[in-house]
Amino acid sequence: MRAAVVRSFTEPLVLEDRPVPSPAGHQVLVRMEASGLCHTDVHAAHGDWPVKPSPPFVPGHEGIGIVEQVGDQVTHLTVGSRVAVPWLGEACGRCDHCVSGWETLCLQQQNSGYSVDGSHAEYALAHGTYVVPVPDGIDPLDAAPLTCAGVTTYKAVKLSGARPGTRVLVSGIGGLGHLALQYARIFGAETVAVDVTDEKLALAAELGADHVIDARVQDVAEEAQRLGGVDAAVSLAVSNASFEAAYASLRRGGTLVLVALPAEGKLEIPVFDTVLNGTKIIGSIVGTREDLAEVFRLHSLGRTRVVRETRDLADINGAIDQLLGGTVPGRLVFDLRP
Ligand code: NAD
Ligand code: ZN
Ligand code: ZN
Repeated sequence: MRAAVVRSFTEPLVLEDRPVPSPAGHQVLVRMEASGLCHTDVHAAHGDWPVKPSPPFVPGHEGIGIVEQVGDQVTHLTVGSRVAVPWLGEACGRCDHCVSGWETLCLQQQNSGYSVDGSHAEYALAHGTYVVPVPDGIDPLDAAPLTCAGVTTYKAVKLSGARPGTRVLVSGIGGLGHLALQYARIFGAETVAVDVTDEKLALAAELGADHVIDARVQDVAEEAQRLGGVDAAVSLAVSNASFEAAYASLRRGGTLVLVALPAEGKLEIPVFDTVLNGTKIIGSIVGTREDLAEVFRLHSLGRTRVVRETRDLADINGAIDQLLGGTVPGRLVFDLRP
C-alpha cells in the first residue's frame, strides 16, 4: 500500500510502499477512501509542539474508509461498513474523563496520525470502538473534513455559548473556520469572520457571514468593538497576534475559545481587565464520538457545506505548501480510491 511518511521533522514527506497491516484484538483494518489535510498534520510533520510524534510515522486524522477486516474482539462492526478515523484514535474508556463524556481529555489516549499511524495511506489500522460510523449518503470526500475540522469547530462553537441574540467572531476561515462559521450560524448567532486573504474573506461572505474583517488592513478589535463587541470569539488562525485580537474583540462577559495551536503559541492577558470584564478563556480539543455523530447528522440534513478540493496522495508536499501559503479553498482532501 502507498503511505505518506514523515521520516524527519526537517524533510519533506516520503511516499512509501508498505505491507498492508493486519488487525488484532480490538483493531479494524480500514481501506481508506479519503483523508483530509489538517493544519495539525503540518505541525506534526514539523515537530512544532512540546509533545512530539516519533518519526517515522504516517500523519492523517480525517480518514474515511471501508472496514475490510476486523480483529477477533470486534463484534459490533461489519466488514464493508464506512467509518471515520478521527484524531481520538483510542481512549481508556474507564477514567473520570472518559465516563463523564470528556473522552477527549483522557490521559491515556492515542492520536491517529500522531502517536499511532494515521490515514494518509491506502490502509490504516484503527481501534474499532473509536471509529465513528459514517451515515449512508454522505460523500466520503465531505465526511473527511467533518472528521476533524467539523467536529472540532462544532464542539468549540457549542462551548462558546453561541445562540440567537449572541455575536460570534470566527478568527481564521480555513479548513476549520469555514465550518465554524456555519455552526455559529446554525446555533443562531450573528457572525463576524476574520481572515487575511482575499479568497478566504470571499468564502466567508459566500457562506453568509454577517460581517467580514480583513485583518491585513483593519484593526480587528476596533471593528468588533464598533459592533458592540462579541459574546464569543473562536480562535482558529495559526497566529499569536490573532489570539490577542480575538481577546480584545470580546464584550464584557465574553468567551474566548482557543483552538489553533501554533508552534510557541502564547497569549498574554491583562489580569485586571479579565477579572473586571468577567472574561472566560477556554481551550477546546477536537470533540467526542457523539459530537462527530451529530456533525454527520447535520450534514445529512443538508445544513452544512464542505468546501474542498481533492489531491493525489503523491502531491502531499505540494498540498502542504499550498496550505501554508493560505490559498486552500476550505480543505484539501486526498482521494485514496483506486
Ligand atoms: P488552515 O491553515 O486551513 O486555516 C487557518 C486560517 O487562518 C487560514 O484561512 C489563514 O488565512 C487564516 N489566518 C492566518 N493568519 C490570520 C490572522 N492573523 N487573522 C485571521 N486569520 C488568519 O488551518 P486549519 O486546518 O483550519 O487549522 C487551524 C489550527 O487549528 C491549526 O493550528 C491546527 O493545528 C489547529 N487545530 C486544532 C484542533 C483542536 O482540537 N484544538 C483541531 C484541529 C486543528
Ligand atoms: Zn485536525
Ligand atoms: Zn480515559
